[in-house]
Amino acid sequence: MNDDEDLRDEIPSYAFISLARRGMEKISLDQCFLKNCDNDDPKLLEPFKKEEIENDKEQIRKIYIKCKKCGGTYILKLKTLKLIAKSTQDTDEEPLSMGLVYALDEEENNLGHIGYF
Ligand SMILES: [Zn+2]
Repeated sequence: MNDDEDLRDEIPSYAFISLARRGMEKISLDQCFLKNCDNDDPKLLEPFKKEEIENDKEQIRKIYIKCKKCGGTYILKLKTLKLIAKSTQDTDEEPLSMGLVYALDEEENNLGHIGYF
């Protein structure tokens, strides 16, 4: 039994941020997104709960993560848009960014759109 490790597998390692004219920057999702916390040690981050919501248009996964450095909890919200996924399926082109990552605090207040995965 190792549910925590399974939850860790649900989290993409990186997100990509669009930098206007300077292309995309890759950032690690192994970091605490709470204010005033600079924890980027995955060993101090403990995913402990997952919620999944699915409808016709999108699939949303919420991963609850406890930060052992600041003691806070934050939520990574991973939103996958199905319609985009479908339209790229039949082509050989690189799929467009289909997933959006947001960070939420424990009360589900939006901490910001992090990027794409
Ligand atoms: Zn923290």
